[in-house]
Amino acid sequence: MVVVMRTDAAETDVERVVERVREAGGDAFVSPGKFRTIIGLVGDTEAFLSLPLATLPGVEQVVRVGKPYKLVARELHPTPSTVHIGEAGIGRSTFSVIAGPCAVETREQALAAARAAARAGATVLRGGAYKPRTSPYAFQGLARQGLEILAECREETGLPVVTEVVDAADVEHVAEVADALQIGTRNMQNFALLKEVGRVHKPVLLKRGLSATVEEWLMAAEYVAQQGNSEIVMCERGIRTFETATRNTLDLSGMVAAQIETHLPVVVDPSHATGRHDLVAPMARAALAAGADGVMIDVHPRPSEALCDGPQALTPDEVEALGAELTALARALGRPMA
Ligand code: PEP
Ligand code: MN
Repeated sequence: MVVVMRTDAAETDVERVVERVREAGGDAFVSPGKFRTIIGLVGDTEAFLSLPLATLPGVEQVVRVGKPYKLVARELHPTPSTVHIGEAGIGRSTFSVIAGPCAVETREQALAAARAAARAGATVLRGGAYKPRTSPYAFQGLARQGLEILAECREETGLPVVTEVVDAADVEHVAEVADALQIGTRNMQNFALLKEVGRVHKPVLLKRGLSATVEEWLMAAEYVAQQGNSEIVMCERGIRTFETATRNTLDLSGMVAAQIETHLPVVVDPSHATGRHDLVAPMARAALAAGADGVMIDVHPRPSEALCDGPQALTPDEVEALGAELTALARALGRPMA
């Protein structure tokens, strides 16, 4: 951390800052400049943050130089991590496809979507049993019955299951069935929920908040990791912008920026990012080309009848075609499919 003094700061102002830092167990190095003095702090940044340095006389500003996240940062963990969901490994050396229905609606619908996901080369099945809907009147998911259907889909396809948990009180029983727990965009800063999933021994798929910066998203992952669970897959799913042609704006540069900062795998959800089935395949290809660790795709046997997010769902035939395309592109890029 660095303390920048005002141009009119007195010598005693500088001494006061140094004294406060030393009292807090740190050290301070003073560099007098032509116009202003800068003080470099060495020691525990978190302890310095609790000091009222910015309000001391003569202080212009206090600048944090290091990263606020530690456990998820590449700084201390330069090698990219592979997160295991069941038998599937999601990491930087391969490209993974996660696919399935947005919501589990019926046994028949979920099984049809799950079979299509498997045929498309997906290694993880997605499907929501608890749906965080914008409207309280919209389909909220089948809850426990949805989890049972997902378990049946896993039984039949052999694919491990990732499903969303929206309430800290549900974490335990969802974790009994799911192979990975999804935290949705609306809950990215639900810190009680993040801590709860951090305490269970199941991988977490953490979606980026719809108005969250990359740093806020990484700090959300830090909450999970801080509880002892570092099995986290980050998922870019589009952010809210002024654009209305798409449901959200896919932030591929944010995805790469996150990969540079964290050792955790980062995948892209082009379905929720665009909200349009005609844009899913192009954005999935773009995600692969940009270096994402995988994609997550919504599939529905009859999108026009879907109870949730039909306009962005691919049909079984479409997702199979996309799987084949991604396999060919991954090969060309020297990055095998998982
Ligand atoms: C989902 O993946 O089912 C979902 C609700 O996505 P998001 O949280 O990104 O809106
Ligand atoms: Mn959805």
